[in-house]
Formats: sequence, C-alpha cells, structure tokens
Amino acid sequence: MQQDFDRRFDQELQDRLVRYAAIDSQSDENSPSSPSTDIQFDMQNLLVQELQEIGAQDVQLTDYGTVLATVPGNTEGPTVGFLAHVDTAPQFNAEGVKPRVIKGYNGGDITFPDNPDLVLSPADHPYLSGKEGHDLVTASGLTLLGADDKSGVSIVMTLARHLLANPDTPHGPIRIAFTPDEEIGRGVDAKLPKDLGADFAYTLDGSDLGEIIYESFSADRAVVKIKGVSIHPGWAKEKMVNAAHLASKIVQTLPQATMTPETTDGREGFLHVTDMSGGSSEMEIKLILRDFERDGLAAKGDLLRKVCDAVQASEPRAEITCEIYPQYRNMRYWLEDDMTPVDLALEACRANGIEPISVPIRGGTDGSRLTELGVPTPNIFCGMQCVHGPLEWVSVQDMAASLQVCLTLAQLAAKK
Ligand SMILES: [Zn+2]
Repeated sequence: MQQDFDRRFDQELQDRLVRYAAIDSQSDENSPSSPSTDIQFDMQNLLVQELQEIGAQDVQLTDYGTVLATVPGNTEGPTVGFLAHVDTAPQFNAEGVKPRVIKGYNGGDITFPDNPDLVLSPADHPYLSGKEGHDLVTASGLTLLGADDKSGVSIVMTLARHLLANPDTPHGPIRIAFTPDEEIGRGVDAKLPKDLGADFAYTLDGSDLGEIIYESFSADRAVVKIKGVSIHPGWAKEKMVNAAHLASKIVQTLPQATMTPETTDGREGFLHVTDMSGGSSEMEIKLILRDFERDGLAAKGDLLRKVCDAVQASEPRAEITCEIYPQYRNMRYWLEDDMTPVDLALEACRANGIEPISVPIRGGTDGSRLTELGVPTPNIFCGMQCVHGPLEWVSVQDMAASLQVCLTLAQLAAKK
C-alpha cells in the first residue's frame, strides 16, 4: 500500500536526513552543562537559519538550547506542536557519520563500506524484509546513523516548509520545537511548556510505520551510598568495614532471575544497576527503576530500600543511604483524561491507509515529560530502526508516510 504514496516529498526528506545526519550532535550524560555538548549548536544554528529561509515566524534559540518557531495558522483551531530532538545517542560512536542511500532496496543482505564484518540482514530484522523497493539510508559501518532523531527533524522541517509554501492548505497555528539532550533525559526544560505555547503536541521520535505511542514507562533513578570503616589493612582486624563487600551484597540480594531488563518485556517493569563505583572505604551504586504503573514503580523502590536496610542491619558500623529521584511518568496517566490528541493521530493514520499500532514503549520521550507538565504529547512513528548502533537505518518512504500523517493531522486538528 505504501508504494501508492505520493512520492513528492521523498527527495527533500532524504536530502535533509543525509545533511543533518552528517553533523555530529551527540549528547553527553556526564556533562553538567546545558545543552550537554556545544556541538548540538551546530544543528540548532543550522535549523534557525533554515527556518528563517523558509519563512517561519518567531524563530528563536532559547537560553536552554531549544529551537522554537511558528507556522502561522490560516484558519481557526488549536495550536499544535511538532517536536523532534537534535542530539544523537551517547551509546555509540557518532563522529564522522557518512550517511549512505540505498535506492530501491533489493531485499537482500546489506553490507557496509567501512566495516566488512557488519551485515544488516532481513533474516535478523523482519521489518527490513517488508521494505523491498524502498530507498534506505544507513551509516557506513563505524558509526550510528542518527536517524534517531534526525529523521524526525527532517519530517518536521519538511512539514513546516510545505505548509509555509502552500497557504491554501487549511491548518491552525503550528509550533515547532527542536530539543537538545533528549537521549540523556534532559530534553524538556521547565520553561518549554510555556514557551512552546501549544494546546497539544507530537514528538516525531518513533519507529515502525503506523506507531502512535501514548504509553511510556514511569521512571525513577536511585543512588545508594555505602560508607564503610577505612583502616590500614595491617591493623584492620575487627575494625575494618569494607564498603565494596557491602555493595556487592546489595547487588547480589536484588532480583536477578526476574525484574531486570534482560528478563522482562511487554508491560513488566525492572530494577537495573547501571553503575557501581568506589573502593573499600566508600561505594556508590546507581540504578534505574521502571514500571508502567505508579504502584509497580513504588514497589520497586520499596524493594530496593528493604534490601539496603537488610544489609545495613547486618553491619551497623557501615552507613548506607538510598535516595530515589523521579525522572518521568507514563504519559497515559494524563492522556487518558482527554484522548483527543491520540485520536487525531489515529484518524490521520487511517486517512492515509495506514493501520495505527499503539504499543507501550519501554522507555520515555520528551513527550512523557511534556505531558506531565501539561502539554499532552503522544509520539508518532518516523521509521527509524536499529537505533543507537552501527546497523541503524531508515526508509525514506516510511518518513514520507509519517509526513503525510502529520499533514493530515494538522488539517484534522483545525476542524476540532
Ligand atoms: Zn529519539
């Protein structure tokens, strides 16, 4: 069915993606600054310039590193936001990305010019087998591609360019936002909801054709600190308390055959030790806690505290603290009160002959945080696959389908 799509946007989407993906804009979770890396300004400054060139209004780079712009409405209607993030994932090399276009994919294995050992095979990636005849974009084998989320950026830019150039298409006011640092969970500044000024919004940050996501994890992070008793090992008898032993005891006591990322899927949550550092005198354990429901998340926090308390009880001379910090919440908690933004996206999919798919995502988006802060923001597919690694790829025709959905959405919203 996709082959019947209007192909007039394919070239622009492909050109934008190739151009944006070649710009290194990786974020860095260990950086305290905001945005976390200066290189993200290379994308932001380019987008400011391009938005001005296509005639967008109120083009602004905020002091927290987000680019904002307006496509003025030509009819009544709610203000709808479209967002994408400019940073790429810190998990894999993003320096020197060389995007490569495979025109009319033949359905076979895909090899990579800079890494002969790497193969992207439809046998391992069933979604790829459905993309015969599509134009695919990949990296060259040594880096990620950054279709997460440069494909979203390309779609939002093409949407804005098209609407500004075609004032006959009826739509209400549209606000555009390009955020930094989404990959490290710092994409939504406290000022963004007000600055965006949208009644509701959509992130273009999803994968398979038809995905309309309105459920994300609820997320907390935890830091456990263990202070032992430090003393010269030669005189340590009955005096030393080794923090490293206590830290490993805590990790060993936490569930391992269940409730971990590697043993769960679907709607199950987990407790995940992400980092452990220190030495015999002091140790620190970092964890992330995930669940789709509030009580499930709270139960995981309680379990962690119980384990810490038990280990503390076994060694009263040590000092063990456990702090839990909220990160983001399942957007469904707010969206289910008013499903209008979700229903519009589902309707826009069907109007384009695409059967929508709504699965809960085992992660969060800028939309999770925005929704919690009062701007309902579900997530729309943009085709990205195998993200955060060297096999990352995207179909230009999936991106075009996403753009069509957004165009239809903008028009449907104006009728509400
Ligand atoms: Zn993303």
